[in-house]
Amino acid sequence: MKELICIVCPKGCHLKVDENNDYAVTGNGCPRGAEYGKAELTNPTRVVTSTVRIGGASLPRCPVKTNGAIPKGMIFEIMKALDDVELTAPVTVGQVVIENVCGTGVNVVAARTM
Ligand code: SF4
Repeated sequence: MKELICIVCPKGCHLKVDENNDYAVTGNGCPRGAEYGKAELTNPTRVVTSTVRIGGASLPRCPVKTNGAIPKGMIFEIMKALDDVELTAPVTVGQVVIENVCGTGVNVVAARTM
């Protein structure tokens, strides 16, 4: 039995996931917690947030995020890819910064207009 805290909403339910019973979840306040608990043990994913360099703006870095969840094991590789990015203002919120980042099928997008 594995114990987790659900991060899907601020309630933070304490989940118990039974690896020996098809990852059955208890302690969840809603069905999203059951999905999260099972996925966290079988294929954990995360939305990545970070910043990249930007030229010609009032601040030196622009916040970015993935527009979907990526496999947790690829976070380091994606952060390395972001190191090579330098945007030029103007940038619009939602603008694609890296398409299909590291072959994940997910884009990195700007999280702010600058
Ligand atoms: S199980 Fe549902 S109610 Fe509980 S923290 Fe997760 S999303 Fe929120």
